[in-house]
Amino acid sequence: MSEVNCIFCKIMRGELPSHRVCESERTVSFLDLFPAALGHTLIVTRDHYENIYEIPPEVLAEIATESHRVAGAQREALRPEGLGVYQLNGAPAGQTVFHYHMHLIPRMPGQGLELHGRKEASSEELSGIAAKIAAKLPST
Ligand code: AMP
Ligand code: ZN
Repeated sequence: MSEVNCIFCKIMRGELPSHRVCESERTVSFLDLFPAALGHTLIVTRDHYENIYEIPPEVLAEIATESHRVAGAQREALRPEGLGVYQLNGAPAGQTVFHYHMHLIPRMPGQGLELHGRKEASSEELSGIAAKIAAKLPST
């Protein structure tokens, strides 16, 4: 997948909308458009790396730091009883967008373990949740 047609590169360039939770030098965190659960957030590299084999280790370290920050804010904002942290590499593993990203999926008992939602969330719903999570971020 070339960077020109990549959905997440388009979001990074501002050609597609997203509901951002926070940003760091080399990452942007925004809500999944087809959430598997309320608050489903993606931690995404600004630059295009297809998978774990391409991402440089120092960028991966920043993904980990941001995941940790956003996880804490999700916990404060949404009080989930569990949190799934997932990252898929290659179509056989279920990857559908070939631009590196980490999923943070809040889990409640009895909701199942789907990684991908089927229904597109409304812009109003997503902007409300993004603001709620962002309000609980620790200052850097
Ligand atoms: P993966 O299967 O790990 O590659 O996950 C890709 C994720 O990106 C899926 O959970 C999709 O719902 C999500 N997604 C696809 N298009 C968009 C978009 N325009 N904005 C936000 N999330 C998206
Ligand atoms: Zn990309």
